[in-house]
Amino acid sequence: MRKRVIAGNWKMNKTPSETRQFLESVKDRICSAESDVYVFPPLISIPEAVSILKETDVIVGAQNFYYEEKGAFTGEVSADMLIDSGVKAVIIGHSERRDIFGEDDRLINLKLKRAVEKGLTPVLCCGESLEIRESGKTTEFIEGQIRKAFEGLSAEDAGKCIVAYEPIWAIGTGKTATSDQAEEICGSVRNTIKELYGETVSENMSVLYGGSMNAGNAAELVSCENIDGGLIGSASLKDEFADIVKV
Ligand code: PEP
Repeated sequence: MRKRVIAGNWKMNKTPSETRQFLESVKDRICSAESDVYVFPPLISIPEAVSILKETDVIVGAQNFYYEEKGAFTGEVSADMLIDSGVKAVIIGHSERRDIFGEDDRLINLKLKRAVEKGLTPVLCCGESLEIRESGKTTEFIEGQIRKAFEGLSAEDAGKCIVAYEPIWAIGTGKTATSDQAEEICGSVRNTIKELYGETVSENMSVLYGGSMNAGNAAELVSCENIDGGLIGSASLKDEFADIVKV
């Protein structure tokens, strides 16, 4: 049985004091027995989140890290630094990192391998642009992203990862994929994982949908067979996140 995962990607929102204020007000309502709940604050706000959520089951993650151990990488943080700060998970391959910061499949693969090796739970994002969707090549594009990200990972390590399917045209646009569109691609992600690692790994892997998920559409999306939860941007910054956790 796969457990539902509800994860909030705050992106570049909420200062440390805003983090404190927000989490103090929702922390009791974002705890759930049915779901694993994650929050991914900006790096500078992580210590506040860890401190406020320490007596809850809510998992604090980071939105990014660099795969090298240490050294001359100005502006970056390592997996060990995150772990030492109480971080348990990390988002890898978000489309904003791919598009705005030029992260490519090779870097994403190196990060995925390092995160698993260090014991951080990776939330690996994949997703197609509107252009790719309109050309009818979504399934093969997503399969390519998954194969490249998982290159060199053992079945045991792959089994520690979460995948989030986030169509770029649905992120922050208010335009959600229909549950049929989301289910189709989440199912094909699971199928690619099955081809790579077999049925046990694929059936146990949590595959999430992300892209304008909110309290109004979450229930329908997560009721789909292959959608095990959501990676939520805008709606995770508000009280609404607590309603999504409860769907
Ligand atoms: C995201 O960026 O991970 C995301 C899904 O954002 P939004 O929910 O705002 O579309």
